[in-house]
Amino acid sequence: MKIPQERLNKYRNLRRDFSEEDYVNLQPIQRGGALTEEAMKAIIEFGDGYSTCDWCPPKSARLDMIENPPIKDFYNDLAEFLGMDTARVVTRCREAMFIAFRMLGAPGDYVVIDGLAHYSSYIAAELAGLRVKEVPVGCPPEHRVDLEAYAAKIEEVKAETGRLPAAALLTHVDYQYGNVSDAKVVGKIAQDYGVPFILNCAYSAGVMPVDGRGVSADVITGSGHKSWAASAPTGILALRKSLEEKVLKRASIQGDLTNRNFVSKELALLGCTVMGAPLLTLIASFPEVVERVERWGEEVQKARFLVGELERIQGVRQIGERPKRHTLMHFETDPFFRVSQSHKRKGYFLYDELRSRKIVGIQPGLTKHFKLNTYGLAWNQVKYVAGAFHEIAEKYGLEIK
Ligand SMILES: *Cc1c(COP(=O)(O)O)cnc(C)c1O
Repeated sequence: MKIPQERLNKYRNLRRDFSEEDYVNLQPIQRGGALTEEAMKAIIEFGDGYSTCDWCPPKSARLDMIENPPIKDFYNDLAEFLGMDTARVVTRCREAMFIAFRMLGAPGDYVVIDGLAHYSSYIAAELAGLRVKEVPVGCPPEHRVDLEAYAAKIEEVKAETGRLPAAALLTHVDYQYGNVSDAKVVGKIAQDYGVPFILNCAYSAGVMPVDGRGVSADVITGSGHKSWAASAPTGILALRKSLEEKVLKRASIQGDLTNRNFVSKELALLGCTVMGAPLLTLIASFPEVVERVERWGEEVQKARFLVGELERIQGVRQIGERPKRHTLMHFETDPFFRVSQSHKRKGYFLYDELRSRKIVGIQPGLTKHFKLNTYGLAWNQVKYVAGAFHEIAEKYGLEIK
């Protein structure tokens, strides 16, 4: 069918709402995914369809076997960087979790997960036919996951089903509070029970150091567009050697007429995954990512500085663990909520005030509490953000200590 031109016009000259160059963007999910210069070049060079596939080896036709561009080497370096044995790039962190769940579990099995897990962890479990047993989260304002309770939850599954859970998943850094959970504790418990340990590093690997071996992780999942200066969709699935055969099982299906089979293809990856520009952005940013995780300490210093400055506004309080050990932070901001109640723009006043100061990323409409992420901002930008909040607070007569 023919679509009229006037309807097609809105698809021409697409522009983003703001440019990352002119604005300070505090959106928690967007800080670690901002592209490097190298990645920007790669996206243009490899923008065409199946651009990775020029030199796909005829026999072992598979993405991870391609040597030009250096995908094969990259997968090896990626695994080593994470302290794991094997790595694959998939479309998203959630797909990596799904693949692990699907290949490690049988329908009806349980997976033990922390109560701060991302929604996509639950959905991945559901699609894999698994049930979840949740590990409780401690009291406010810190909301720490009770890591020792993994043992009791594994026992609970055993008592209920007579079998161990298919896996135990821990969210290394949660999306709500940016708390950093001590993966070693869960790694040890899982190992003692012989349960595969999946560490979800969507908010950690790529911005902070992660050593899978050191925490006894059997599987690490990561998000390229969240934390590796890569375009969406890119995810990381890294494995211990002992799980390779199970998780990366080859296809065994055969055509009943043609007798064709596809024994080199990895079943859960549907053969190949990200065969274009997003994968190349992940690869092109890798040298910078390897360096930047070493500067994590300073990133945390900037986050702590901003917490101190925002808490000078009477009634503003950072929740989640203290002091911060991650750049994603969550604030209760009752004073801004009180302002919003008598403001003609209601909750949107804060967004407007920030936007007029070239700051974006706080969810429009939210004033009672909000999250932000300082990852990768320069010191002068962090100070500028602190100053802007103080200015807005002053404008509406809030008290600043
Ligand atoms: C963002 C996030 C995800 C989802 O990542 P995708 O790559 O978009 O699938 C999963 N888990 C956690 C903890 C996250 O923060």
